[in-house]
Amino acid sequence: MRIPKAIQNLVESFEKLPGVGPKTAQRLTFYLLHVPQGELDRFADSVQSLKKDTILCSQCFMIDESDPCSICEDTQREHSVICVVEQPLDVLAIEKGRSFRGIYHVLHGRIDPLNNIGPDEIYIAPLISRLKSKNSKIKEIILATNPTMEGEATAMYIAKQIKGQDLRVKITRIGRGLPVGADLEYADDTTLQRAMEGRDEY
Ligand SMILES: [Zn+2]
Repeated sequence: MRIPKAIQNLVESFEKLPGVGPKTAQRLTFYLLHVPQGELDRFADSVQSLKKDTILCSQCFMIDESDPCSICEDTQREHSVICVVEQPLDVLAIEKGRSFRGIYHVLHGRIDPLNNIGPDEIYIAPLISRLKSKNSKIKEIILATNPTMEGEATAMYIAKQIKGQDLRVKITRIGRGLPVGADLEYADDTTLQRAMEGRDEY
């Protein structure tokens, strides 16, 4: 029997998603065949508007509906403290704890030589520009990359870059409480809060 093209196409799309193998891709596709058309249309709409209706903040590179994003625009926040994270999801994880009142810088990745991701592939240069900008009020950079080998290497690289610029910025690293190899995204609120409070000068 030949599998209908429409099914084959969707299976292939699912297979491209992280963590989804051929079996799961098939199961998801056949599951969707039972879903009412209206619901499928809404699903398709959400996928379609995912990128169309979001924008990267030109200051911190967080994803939002406006540029600057709502965090950068918030005058109640401490614009002198920047928390540097790997992914937008890390911002959401830290925001959930509600204890951090500074602003962010999202790298959109980490230095990972094994996968050919060097410093130029992620948003490190714009971070340095933010620090060097004439009206910069930044006093502290919190390096909140993941406590993995790549995350540590990224933190180290950024710290070196900042120190090489002769900028009067305090550099700190979160950690200690965080289990090695963990992902910030999956850390619970208390652990994350403790890691934030217990940061050391880098
Ligand atoms: Zn922003």
